[in-house]
Amino acid sequence: EPVILRQKEHGIDLKLLSPNAVRVTQTLQDAGFKAFLVGGAVRDLLLGIKPKDFDIATNATPEQVKSLFRRAFIIGRRFQIVHVMFGQEQIEVTTFRGTSSEHAPKDEHGRVLRDNTFGEQHEDAIRRDFTVNAMYYDPATQTVWDYHKGIDDIRSKTLRMIGVPEARFREDPVRLLRIVRFAAKLNFTIDPATRAPIAVMAPLINNVPAARLFDEMLKLLMSGHALACLQQLRKEGLHHGLLPLLDVVLEQPLGEKFVTLALTNTDNRIKQGKPVSPGFLFAALLWHQVLEKWNAYQAAGEYPIPALHMAADDVLDTQTENLAIQRRITSDMRDIWAMQPRFERRTGKSPYKLIEHPRMRAGYDFLLLRCESGELDAEIGDWWTEFIEADGPGRVELLARKS
Ligand code: ATP
Ligand code: MG
Repeated sequence: EPVILRQKEHGIDLKLLSPNAVRVTQTLQDAGFKAFLVGGAVRDLLLGIKPKDFDIATNATPEQVKSLFRRAFIIGRRFQIVHVMFGQEQIEVTTFRGTSSEHAPKDEHGRVLRDNTFGEQHEDAIRRDFTVNAMYYDPATQTVWDYHKGIDDIRSKTLRMIGVPEARFREDPVRLLRIVRFAAKLNFTIDPATRAPIAVMAPLINNVPAARLFDEMLKLLMSGHALACLQQLRKEGLHHGLLPLLDVVLEQPLGEKFVTLALTNTDNRIKQGKPVSPGFLFAALLWHQVLEKWNAYQAAGEYPIPALHMAADDVLDTQTENLAIQRRITSDMRDIWAMQPRFERRTGKSPYKLIEHPRMRAGYDFLLLRCESGELDAEIGDWWTEFIEADGPGRVELLARKS
């Protein structure tokens, strides 16, 4: 049975609610269904943080949900959810899921393969990951329904797995990444019993389908706390399986400096509400592997440009075995890497062609990171900054300086 908290006990600030999310719960309730805000949104509301998106849980089936809204789309094959659209805002509506995990089909490591039955609200609560992610808020009565003492853990800033931690990590090893992301983002402590099995469970990450690993990794890198997440991953010994060789990169002084700068940069942009490109981020994370292989191919007698392409292929092949980096993103990564030697040609028409490149901005930002990390002399970055800002005669003069 849930503990039910009233407004004066939970103190949720109504101004942080999305009017559209409230409208969705209202519409569902008016049609006779149960409907609550759930998960991360409720957790953030209780912490006084404005949620970045709102998920809703209901006992209506996806078809029933869809029929109640003008712009609603059923998404997903394995487990269907409904996206209800209001202009740019997307509200995700999920039907309560059952606790089939005991009987659900599993792979040889215990990872649950299919888990797609509907259930009661208390079953929906028990299959969520952490106690602070398993609370429900009803805007109509302004009550929070707490099945697993999540409110205590909100107050003590604790991440605690629902159920037996080892079993829950085993049935879905993505939770290893999730706990690290939440610890870093919310500045919460991991409860000792939840934390104990993490190091032992780490190899199970290798067993997660590459596409899911990528989704969760992207959430982590785009959380605005990527650097803190990466540090936490290392602390928990989880960085090995994620991006093969990431640990090696982090142990090279220049590699570590480069990754740190790139992530700090991304975190700042996200906190300022500026867009960040996943391609740029992954290009940065893997750059020192590319560099190493690029050098090796050149040492073996390859010309610089083909050597760079061979290095890029090698690195992407190794990475995409574990992590399904989407093609759109790998193509950005290749562009950014391939532009790098072109910045070194500062004569004739080359610089004029390069500044017309559609990905020039990203390539140039990447060049600046290389300078800042000490891999390249600052002179080259400064030269390009001047060249980009200069007018016609100014550019001629800058080129003359180089020949
Ligand atoms: P964020 O604010 O970063 O989006 P979130 O808690 O909303 O955090 P989501 O990935 O959006 O995270 O998931 C929504 C909710 O679904 C979670 O709060 C949790 O209750 C449940 N959930 C998501 N992934 C899992 C999982 N792998 N195992 C168990 N429950 C999960
Ligand atoms: Mg969410």
